[in-house]
Amino acid sequence: MQVCETIAEVREVVRELRNSGPVALVPTMGYFHEGHLTLMREAHRRFPVVVVSVFVNPLQFGPTEDLKTYPRDLERDLRLARGTGAAAVFVPSENEMYPEQFCTFVDLERLSGVLCGRTRPGHFRGVATMVTKLFNIVRPDAAFFGQKDAQQLQVVRRLVRDLNLNLEIVAVPTVREADGLAMSSRNAYLDPRERRAATVLYRSLQSAREAVVSGRRDLAAVQERLAAGIRAEPLAELEYAEILALPGLTPPGDDDSELLLAVAARFGRARLIDNVVCTVEDRHRRTS
Ligand code: AMP
Repeated sequence: MQVCETIAEVREVVRELRNSGPVALVPTMGYFHEGHLTLMREAHRRFPVVVVSVFVNPLQFGPTEDLKTYPRDLERDLRLARGTGAAAVFVPSENEMYPEQFCTFVDLERLSGVLCGRTRPGHFRGVATMVTKLFNIVRPDAAFFGQKDAQQLQVVRRLVRDLNLNLEIVAVPTVREADGLAMSSRNAYLDPRERRAATVLYRSLQSAREAVVSGRRDLAAVQERLAAGIRAEPLAELEYAEILALPGLTPPGDDDSELLLAVAARFGRARLIDNVVCTVEDRHRRTS
């Protein structure tokens, strides 16, 4: 597995790797857990060449967020990536990605103002700019993203269409701990009590999903119950609990065939997000 720190290096390495077949990219911020590794394995199952990027992108962090303290362990990440069969890891410095004079950004007029975009202004501009740069640097045939970051996935799909980027975007289902907590690098911030409390997110999402699947039409009431379930956990500080239509992240109507149930909450210094998706078949599969 080759480790590249510069754009010139990774371009050269990928140019040679391309002789072995199509290339898949897995963009990450490192500190790998089973979610990241599943993305890499899934990429490797479908593509002969997998390139992983590890970059804690300062552009997607707000001024009061955890950029400085974001967990990092590059040695371990490289070992784990190698174990999945990745061919190369791209680990650029901040200066390599954003040299002095950098002033061009990718901004989406829709999708980025709701959910995390409302509470983290500029976050998706940072994500969209970084992802576009990575796509241009690596020129992959496909890129793999986790459903865990559902809004990010929609943003990436949209920008790929809008800018006519020539690659496939593959979504991978959320990988969870045995008790349902979505795996996240930020789970490392949780103390044992917060760790137990954090299970409220997926539990509440599941019961909201059940309410929708069993035919509840009054989505505003389901949303309110979802929020109340999380608020009832004393260690949770709810940021949002919303039901929106996919793919536009718009207020849901009767004709919408896919719904996103998404939550964000703080547990101590960990800000965690989670979501589930309901399709129209689910909504019509009345259990009563
Ligand atoms: P991050 O390092 O947190 O930026 O995540 C890198 C990629 O891994 C993103 O596409 C995430 O959506 C994905 N990811 C993070 N956590 C999970 C998880 N629990 N299950 C599946 N994918 C995940």
